[in-house]
Amino acid sequence: MDVIERKKVVIVGGGFSGVVLAQKLESSIPKDWDIYLLSKTNFITYNPLLPEVIGASLLPGHVQAPHRLMLKRTKIRMVTVDNIDYANKVVHYHNDVVDSIKFDQIVLSAGVKVNTDMLPGLEEHALPLKTVGDALYIRNQVIERLEQATIHSDIERRKKLTTFVILGGGFSGVETAGELEDFISSAQRYYKNVTRENCRVIIVHGTDRLIPELSEKLSANTLKNFKKRGIEVHLNARANLIEHEKVTLASGEVIEGATIICTIGNTAHGFIANEFLPTERGKVKTNVDMSVGDSDEKWLWALGDCSLVPNAKTGQLCPPTAQFADRQAKALAKNIVASIKGKDTTPFGYIPSGMLASIGHNKAVAEIYGIRFSGILAFMIWRAVYLGKIPTFNRKVRLFFEWTWAMASPKDIAHLGFKRSIDD
Ligand SMILES: Cc1cc2nc3c(=O)[nH]c(=O)nc-3n(C[C@H](O)[C@H](O)[C@H](O)COP(=O)(O)OP(=O)(O)OC[C@H]3O[C@@H](n4cnc5c(N)ncnc54)[C@H](O)[C@@H]3O)c2cc1C
Repeated sequence: MDVIERKKVVIVGGGFSGVVLAQKLESSIPKDWDIYLLSKTNFITYNPLLPEVIGASLLPGHVQAPHRLMLKRTKIRMVTVDNIDYANKVVHYHNDVVDSIKFDQIVLSAGVKVNTDMLPGLEEHALPLKTVGDALYIRNQVIERLEQATIHSDIERRKKLTTFVILGGGFSGVETAGELEDFISSAQRYYKNVTRENCRVIIVHGTDRLIPELSEKLSANTLKNFKKRGIEVHLNARANLIEHEKVTLASGEVIEGATIICTIGNTAHGFIANEFLPTERGKVKTNVDMSVGDSDEKWLWALGDCSLVPNAKTGQLCPPTAQFADRQAKALAKNIVASIKGKDTTPFGYIPSGMLASIGHNKAVAEIYGIRFSGILAFMIWRAVYLGKIPTFNRKVRLFFEWTWAMASPKDIAHLGFKRSIDD
């Protein structure tokens, strides 16, 4: 008897978009299809919560959730995709083995990586923020700088040690600055030589307002809040050169600081660069239904940060945000199923009902259905949104108590050694 080969949809990347897509496909794709999720990590990282790991408001385990807890039917492979042979519909990957899978449908949802080539000196002298490891590393360095400032008698050196420069005033830069300022204010009680006044948190941002994805009013509210808290913001300022403890701006101004955090400059993962794919600025250009290419038979799709998806509701390209990644995933699941069943796909169009950004100090800024507000209420909504995304009741309860406890507690200033005992 002939064995009927099962059909395969392969999703490359298990972040915001890939996981939601797999979840939606699990309940809607015909039963003779298998779903594969190929991802470098076996967990999703809730990137917008990473700054809270820097600020010691959250434990690292709380900003990640294992794919295997979130997906039931999907075959999960923790592997790195090296390249995709589109002509033969084969994806090549490696982990402990080098292997491949033949697919019928493929979805690119691999996000972006830090572009260390963007500025001279960036790779050597700045700390990126993309993973939980990055967040813990930054937090550790901040604590180390406070400890160093405490034992230094040279005032100029102390000033440098307690100056923290953040490149980028988008979501991640703003959230990091807010958390950092909060952390320093809370930690200063333990450090005699370090007062809030002699610590500087500086944002260097290339355009005329913080978090351009927010409305102008919300950006202005964020700036006002930061000024009040002593966070320095350089708008329309581009860094030209990064050196040891030094950032030179295009204007010639030099900012000296012993910790430089980079939240700008993303680029596509290597395997995206393939002559089969239409790309612009390294991202995959899609049609309005998120399919790629112009063939009538739709089998190649892209979404999330690695793609440029037109928004049918605005005529513009979708911004690289978690909210859009999530919405695209839900819409794409329907389009993939429609296309498998030979039905028409639907253009992607979405206008967000609200925008939220956490700004530290148990505060956020929000605009929901046109109503703008900020402070603790916005912060609670921000937290509720992420609590809703965390899988399983057990994890939600743990996170809720952890958050509530951290809000009322001093920050944890333990310096993590990050060394094995045999390295000492
Ligand atoms: C610090 C920070 C703060 C942010 N704050 C906000 C915010 O407040 N609000 C907001 O809307 N957005 C925010 N964002 C942006 C948001 O996180 C992204 O828009 C969103 O994660 C995009 O989802 P994605 O699925 O495209 O990519 P990601 O969520 O990045 O997932 C990509 C996945 O692909 C995997 N992958 C990559 N390469 C390979 C490969 N070769 N093989 C296999 N797997 C691979 C990765 O391991 C990862 O699992 C923030 C981002 C950062 C970094």
